[in-house]
Amino acid sequence: MQTPEVRDIARLERTGAHSHIHGLGLDEKLQPVGNFQGMVGQAKARRAAGLLVKLVQDGKIAGRAILMAGGPGTGKTAIAMGMTQELGKDVPFTMMAASELFSLEMSKTEALTQAFRRSIGVRIKEETELIQGEVVEIQIDRSVTGVAAKSGKLTMKTTDMETIYDLGQKMIDALSKEKVVAGDVITIDKASGRITKLGRSFTRARDYDATGPEVKFVQCPEGELQVRKEVVHTVSLHEIDVINSRTQGFLALFSGDTGEIKPEVREQINTKVGEWREEGKAEMVPGVLFIDEVHMLDMECFSFLNRALEDQLAPIVIMASNRGMTRIRGTKYKSAHGIPADFLDRLHIISTSSYSEPEIKEILKIRCTEEDVDMAPDALEVLTKIGTETSLRYAIHLITTGSLVAQKRQATAVDVSDIKRAYSLFLDEKRSVQYLREYQDQYLY
Ligand code: ATP
Repeated sequence: MQTPEVRDIARLERTGAHSHIHGLGLDEKLQPVGNFQGMVGQAKARRAAGLLVKLVQDGKIAGRAILMAGGPGTGKTAIAMGMTQELGKDVPFTMMAASELFSLEMSKTEALTQAFRRSIGVRIKEETELIQGEVVEIQIDRSVTGVAAKSGKLTMKTTDMETIYDLGQKMIDALSKEKVVAGDVITIDKASGRITKLGRSFTRARDYDATGPEVKFVQCPEGELQVRKEVVHTVSLHEIDVINSRTQGFLALFSGDTGEIKPEVREQINTKVGEWREEGKAEMVPGVLFIDEVHMLDMECFSFLNRALEDQLAPIVIMASNRGMTRIRGTKYKSAHGIPADFLDRLHIISTSSYSEPEIKEILKIRCTEEDVDMAPDALEVLTKIGTETSLRYAIHLITTGSLVAQKRQATAVDVSDIKRAYSLFLDEKRSVQYLREYQDQYLY
């Protein structure tokens, strides 16, 4: 009986703290929609984040840094996750706490370099033969035929090989009769396979929407037609670094034993990737590096970031802070969020504010669905109250513990008594401090 095991693993993955976030929840005009893609409230911050995503997509702010500033549990991480999802499915997202830099067995700058390179993807294109029965999306590739066909997408089963060949032949015929020239935009009519010329409006490569496996029609010298599929996968620069700097290759990736990587290895890899780009075999995908607790960084780290952000391929660095005025680590100077003033000046600052009661209720409801927990309406009311008086995160944790209490009494839905029980078993921050005040003489000094 393998099935339950498999389901458990899938479930664990699904219920991460931010697994309910599927984007920023904006409409096409970048306006926040009430409760959309798992996002609730925080309208101003979401709008600002959406605007930055748009600028990144337009190639206008590569290598910029963003600061999410706001109190604990106000959605800074959630919004960063939402931004990554808006950027695209294979865009790398690296999440780290600034304090991790000081606990690793490597220099801070090496750890930061690795984090940067983890956040830069290399989209590699490979060609494979088409397998009978595969569902493929058909696009005419610019590099082979010299024609970009954005609207020429067809989805069909390759059992229908005749149609595919026929379509390819029509394509090549049209080209040879010079009806269509390189760079023209064409549409292929799904029903008739007729090719219509639309003109030359694709000037930039990014207009060419290359999602899904691509099928190429290749005309061989003998005039024979071949059909090939293009497979695209994305790896991070750091993964390539690791594979090339360890004798055990791929194994090092799984064991997590990376250590410091020699600068020469990185230089070689940069050169190689550069060659792949020129040959059209790979493209770069700058991702997102999220650094939480940014006040834990010191001057050396800020100076590194300042320089690293200048790199053409730098990822978008999103930092988060829930601190106000605080000391810059390792100095006696205080500044906003513990960030030096000159560095703060180069950041786009997005602030998040605390949630209203209805917003907390909405987020808790979404989390219940996400965790497959059936919560009685009055239990949700109580949980919302707890959320407003303690913290959103504490209330979210009570969903899981409350549901375990309900399971124990063999109930299918969580009711008020389950929430009360979980509330009495686990302390929130305020009660924990209160408890310590009362019983501190029983603890070690
Ligand atoms: P901290 O300063 O403590 O690191 P944070 O501001 O990063 O906190 P999150 O971790 O993003 O807060 O939020 C706490 C929880 O609430 C997470 O599970 C998050 O997904 C959820 N959450 C926060 N804001 C929203 C929102 N606007 N919509 C939906 N879920 C949210």
